[in-house]
Amino acid sequence: MTDMETSIRKKTVILTTGGTIAGVGNAGKTTGYTPGVLTANELTSSLPRTVTDIEVCEICSLNSDDIGAVIWLKLAKFINKKAAEPDISGFVITHGTDTLEETAYFLDLTVKTEKPVVLTGSMRPSTAVSADGDMNLYEAVCVSASPKAVGLGVLAVFADRIFSARQVTKTNTYHTAAIGARETGALGVVRDGEVYIYNKPTRRHSLLSEFDVSELEILPKVNIVYFSADADPEILEFAAKRSDGIVIAGAGAGEFDEGFKKVINRLDIPVVISSRTGEGIIVASNLLCKNTVAADDLPPQKAAVLLRLALTKTKDMKEIERFFSEY
Ligand code: ASP
Repeated sequence: MTDMETSIRKKTVILTTGGTIAGVGNAGKTTGYTPGVLTANELTSSLPRTVTDIEVCEICSLNSDDIGAVIWLKLAKFINKKAAEPDISGFVITHGTDTLEETAYFLDLTVKTEKPVVLTGSMRPSTAVSADGDMNLYEAVCVSASPKAVGLGVLAVFADRIFSARQVTKTNTYHTAAIGARETGALGVVRDGEVYIYNKPTRRHSLLSEFDVSELEILPKVNIVYFSADADPEILEFAAKRSDGIVIAGAGAGEFDEGFKKVINRLDIPVVISSRTGEGIIVASNLLCKNTVAADDLPPQKAAVLLRLALTKTKDMKEIERFFSEY
């Protein structure tokens, strides 16, 4: 390779955080393994270096259920600094699938770069028969290095499909295509390393986001309270005392009973109404309580991410309503 070629060769930075993709268990089995065991170098050792150069950095080795604001802020700050390096074309984050969608959406709202940031993981540990991690990682790297993925915000790549961070969600407990986007679908696909994009995100993200985490060490506390038949409203009251904001996972289009209604009408912290159905939109005219904000089509766990960021700026309900309509 000539000096000229060396100087223009770009690289992807792979940030590892643990999860099943780095999981190790009994040979062949898909359950009962330990997540986050493989080191960053072990995880990436069989990755073909043909598409782009690779730099690897271990952020943590966690089951993704143990990932929250501390790791989100670490990732956002790391990417925002590193993205300025001209030889870097994009980032891949390996992550457990359980909360991949929350990390992806947080980063979508807080990274300040057009360069692709792509999350991936796997449903089967590295020691399973037909483990899905290697292919997911390879395809995520292909997307991170593709000019077609520039400016699309944070993405997730899983089982040959490309999703926007805002829409991606875990839809199943064990299928290898458990990461999807329900009714709004994928942005594109990867086939043999080639990237095909058919849709683009329309909501504000990355460079067009007004959220700035550069000075933040913690995030406001938001809890999600799930409504079900005969749910105890005192649980909601207790949660509210320990929170800066509340997200309700309501039934249907964000509904709940009289007991919940009474408590919500009395609360003086922001309350966002989402749905426990897993799909569909909630609009202002659905709202049972006037002092609440509709989550649009965000599931409870993503409404909580946006509300936490919103609360870093304001407690004003009109402004929070605007965030939920623009992001
Ligand atoms: N519990 C694992 C995690 O989220 C599941 C997975 O990665 O698929 O870390």
